[in-house]
Amino acid sequence: MTQDLNGTHGLIVGIANRRSLAWAIAQALSSAGATLALTYQSERLEGNVRDLGGTLARPSIYLPCDVTRDDQLAGVCESVGREFGGLDYLVHGVAFAPREALSAPFLDTSREAFATALDVSAYSLVALARGVAPMMESRGGGSIVTLTYLGSERVFPNYNVMGVAKAALEASVRYLAADLGPRGVRVNAISAGPIKTLAASGIGGFSGILQVYRERAPLKRNVETSEVADAAMFLLGPAGRGVTGDVLRVDAGFHVMGM
Ligand code: NAD
Repeated sequence: MTQDLNGTHGLIVGIANRRSLAWAIAQALSSAGATLALTYQSERLEGNVRDLGGTLARPSIYLPCDVTRDDQLAGVCESVGREFGGLDYLVHGVAFAPREALSAPFLDTSREAFATALDVSAYSLVALARGVAPMMESRGGGSIVTLTYLGSERVFPNYNVMGVAKAALEASVRYLAADLGPRGVRVNAISAGPIKTLAASGIGGFSGILQVYRERAPLKRNVETSEVADAAMFLLGPAGRGVTGDVLRVDAGFHVMGM
């Protein structure tokens, strides 16, 4: 899939390692010509992100961003504005829930775990969108893509409070699309099928979910990160210019099956 994105700039939040969905999207954007800012959640992940970024075609900038910290969110927007003078794309691939909330019954979710999951996994999109919107507006518009999962609508074992967070994330996509559309900024989500990543390894029985998709999805297989990246390129780039507020499923068709 070739698009010429030379001269455009993107902010990628959510790279932990080479398996991260955000990394696959970063590679696709970079290959198409975009220059990127890559953030890392903590010093522990900084080396990974810098090593990966070093393999891209053009130099990136690297910024610390724990999405629970308003000072770091402000710092990211300030640096991106200064270095790039505007922004075309935001990729949001961030999610977290405390481990015990992804194994105990949902009924036992603590107030603290609930608040943390919603803060990191849903509110962070709202905060980032607010920060980048003026920079996108200065470019005549922009495109935001986040990553969600079917657990927002249906019950999957151990997905628990993350399903509630994804429901909030998808609703946030719609409200943000309505607020930002008049400013030329589109906001969409990709609902990806299960893929073995760091975040996925925190969900109890994840390999069982992979197996069920292989057996039941119309395509009789799981999806790959490159397929998620290709869909993101559609939503981020000019081909998706008429699409906003949507949730595009990249799940080998699993969601259409009744049983
Ligand atoms: P990943 O572990 O590679 O990415 C999750 C990212 O969230 C990491 O980079 C981590 O550093 C970041 N993060 C967590 N807490 C943070 C915080 N406080 N501040 C900043 N960053 C923080 O796993 P992934 O599977 O690539 O996840 C990316 C997105 O894709 C998530 O939203 C996830 O829910 C979603 N998703 C994943 C799958 C799957 O099966 N892997 C399926 C559908 C949707």
